[in-house]
Amino acid sequence: MLGGLLVCASALAQAPDLVLVNGKIHTLAAKSTVAEALAIRDGRIVALGNFAKVKPLIARSTRVVDLKGRTVIPGLIDSHMHAIRAGLSFSTEVNWIGARSIPEALARLREAARTRKPGDWLIVAGGWTPEQFAEKRVPTQAEIAEAGGDHPVYIQLFYGWAMLNPKGFEALGIREDKDVPPAGKLDRDASGALTGGISGNTPTITGLFARLPKPSFEEQIEGTKAFFRELNRLALTGVIDPGGFGMAPPDYQALFSIWREGGLTLRVAYTIFAQGRGKELEDYKNLTQLLPMGFGDSWLRFNGIGENVAWGVYNNDAPTEAAREQFYEICRWAASQGMALNIHWHNDSSVWMVLDTFERVNKEIPIGNLRWTLVHLEDAAEDTLKRMKALGVGWAMQDAGYFEGEAQLKAKGEQALRRMPPMNSALYIGVHVGAGTDAHRVMSYNPWVALRWMLDGKTVGGRALRGPEETPTRENALRMYTLGSAWLAFAEKERGSLEVGKLADLAVLSKDYFKVPVEEIGEIESVMTVVGGKVVFER
Ligand SMILES: [Zn+2]
Repeated sequence: MLGGLLVCASALAQAPDLVLVNGKIHTLAAKSTVAEALAIRDGRIVALGNFAKVKPLIARSTRVVDLKGRTVIPGLIDSHMHAIRAGLSFSTEVNWIGARSIPEALARLREAARTRKPGDWLIVAGGWTPEQFAEKRVPTQAEIAEAGGDHPVYIQLFYGWAMLNPKGFEALGIREDKDVPPAGKLDRDASGALTGGISGNTPTITGLFARLPKPSFEEQIEGTKAFFRELNRLALTGVIDPGGFGMAPPDYQALFSIWREGGLTLRVAYTIFAQGRGKELEDYKNLTQLLPMGFGDSWLRFNGIGENVAWGVYNNDAPTEAAREQFYEICRWAASQGMALNIHWHNDSSVWMVLDTFERVNKEIPIGNLRWTLVHLEDAAEDTLKRMKALGVGWAMQDAGYFEGEAQLKAKGEQALRRMPPMNSALYIGVHVGAGTDAHRVMSYNPWVALRWMLDGKTVGGRALRGPEETPTRENALRMYTLGSAWLAFAEKERGSLEVGKLADLAVLSKDYFKVPVEEIGEIESVMTVVGGKVVFER
């Protein structure tokens, strides 16, 4: 009798919380199986296979979802997204991501003008390109002034150009070039009249942006939650976050607060961006004394330093000897702490500086298990990939070519573009590749747009640039967006594929990624996203 009760009690304790049946569940396990049903308990996958295998586990307390033949994939993980920064202002900014024409973009501005408090700034802080508009141009100041009504308006294009309406110029007190240091120039037309545009470089634009009002702490929390739900809607369940311009310790407090209350719907592995110029190493030492590598839990984890490791080598093809030596010192320190490191690098022609440094450090302190990562490097040569493989260095690869393909074509030529980025070579050589977007200032955060681009090589303007030799299969593209990114976060044993014992992070898709024509992949969304067994998005 007592024995019977115990069995009952333990059977109840064993009952899954959630069971998915009647689906096409792509596990991305080593053998690439497709299962029909999956059971989740306490945030993890407890059974997977055909319906007969899962059915006996179902109890009255179990929620059973009939997938009606839909496709399920492991939750997507973006290997490089400035998601913490994007979240801070998501509820107070306007975004033009995916807008197909200038009227559509202006309508979003007009809608914000109608709903925001009088006098609030309307800010479009990147994430768009004129190539995405049918008109293939930037809006005029008259257009944004009309749409913005009584509000000051700020429109940013990448990190080289911005446009304000007259109210924006007035609010920031900008009248001439010297009002937009360090390198800003007010655009003028042929007759010398101001057009509303401001041209400059990254310091100009980040300096300008820093003058705009910051969202309140409540707005930051609201924005972060809303942004993470937006990512869940697109089947994302995790990101690796590299900080970004202007990201300092106070900018992490909204995220930490949501994590403390157990409110995250997205797993975040974050790294520290260089703080003070010239005192980078001192800052890292101070900031990480109580923050050892890997500290955190499966929702929020500290993942080392970067993308800006040191200002002197950041997005710089020709750093000084002193900057390279400082970079070496920081790398050596990171290795001594067992710390991961990721670094932005754009051009293969100069990447030897990074690899030489890594090799030099590796001779003193092995870095093979630290998963150091090169970010971007769209034109990586085969030799570079081989050196990376030998060092155990991973590659965070993004769809920069989707927005910038035409510009890359001008700079590097058709032949070079055919193999950019060399995804198949990297996989063949054995480099771990994590896919992502680098959103949201320079790119849309939509992973489906990135996946489509990985498969067809077409820019937002519709030009196909990559050749078939570097175009991955659909499965390999998806693996880069799941297991590949998970590896960069030291999490491939916990997530990135659907296997018994792993965290239940998955998405049920609106269309079959494996079957729809490639053009339709960009429109895929999730109909149900599960993170750690919790349904975080449902349509
Ligand atoms: Zn970045």
